[in-house]
Amino acid sequence: MAPGIFVHFGKHENPDRSNLGDIANIGFIVGSEAVAVVDSGGSVSIGRELKNAIREVSSLPIRYVIITHIHPDHALGTPPFLDAKPEIVGHHRLPNAILQRGSFYVERSKEVLGDNEVETIVVPTLLVESETTIDLGQRKLLIRAHETAHTDNDLSVFDYNTKTLWLSDLLFIDRTPVVDGSATGWIKLLKSMRDANADLVIPGHGSVVRDWPSGGSKMLAYLENLVAAVRDMLQQGKSAGQALSIAESENSDGWLLFRDSHPRNVLKAYSELEWEWISRIWAVFEINQFTKLITANLYSINQIRHRICI
Ligand SMILES: [Zn+2]
Repeated sequence: MAPGIFVHFGKHENPDRSNLGDIANIGFIVGSEAVAVVDSGGSVSIGRELKNAIREVSSLPIRYVIITHIHPDHALGTPPFLDAKPEIVGHHRLPNAILQRGSFYVERSKEVLGDNEVETIVVPTLLVESETTIDLGQRKLLIRAHETAHTDNDLSVFDYNTKTLWLSDLLFIDRTPVVDGSATGWIKLLKSMRDANADLVIPGHGSVVRDWPSGGSKMLAYLENLVAAVRDMLQQGKSAGQALSIAESENSDGWLLFRDSHPRNVLKAYSELEWEWISRIWAVFEINQFTKLITANLYSINQIRHRICI
């Protein structure tokens, strides 16, 4: 993709026994002293194949396995790398996500891929609180831990040498995005990243982007339309079930696997925005109560000041 940057492109499919979970973009970055894996793949076999691919181009130690987030298509390939005792790099919230959902993902993936293909989601040894720089030898990588967006444990990796921004599932190209964190948080994050000085951006699914930020605009529009449509439904007082009618809307941008992911995104956005809606109604209610108190002259100005301050 760029000097020292290697990417394997996953298929636009759901995981099954024929693709062995090979559905996400994974890869590695080679420095002068060490190699860093960026996502280990969706099964033990895919992790092993990734390791073999590294050995075809470099005999340097694999010192880091960076797991960009908990999803099994990115994280189940780690066990074959453990013999060399690399640092497993993860978001500071990844251990908790593994605690909450790891065994579900492992059991579900065993059903889908077969028992031999799934061991565990490995708990990180190096946690990223905000950002961390690792040095592969004449090559520094900036690893950033983000606020909740695709999930609540998303990392991105920036290679200073080639200005490559590895966004993993913070960016979907071609395949319908999956909202498993916060639609509004994701919009905010993508907007904040628009001025990133990147020559190459690597998504978690789909082809690489060389015209950032315009190459990410289709996905941003998807999320903005999703949020606008769900807010509209909430304003009309529609239930989550009724809001699902949005999921029947035209897939005018030609997203792949739209019927698999879009309905879930609608429900996820509904539950997120419902709270926003409830707190807004509550705020209006409180203001009304406050206005009534003033007009009824029940409080002196000093008493009102006191209420505001506490
Ligand atoms: Zn993901």
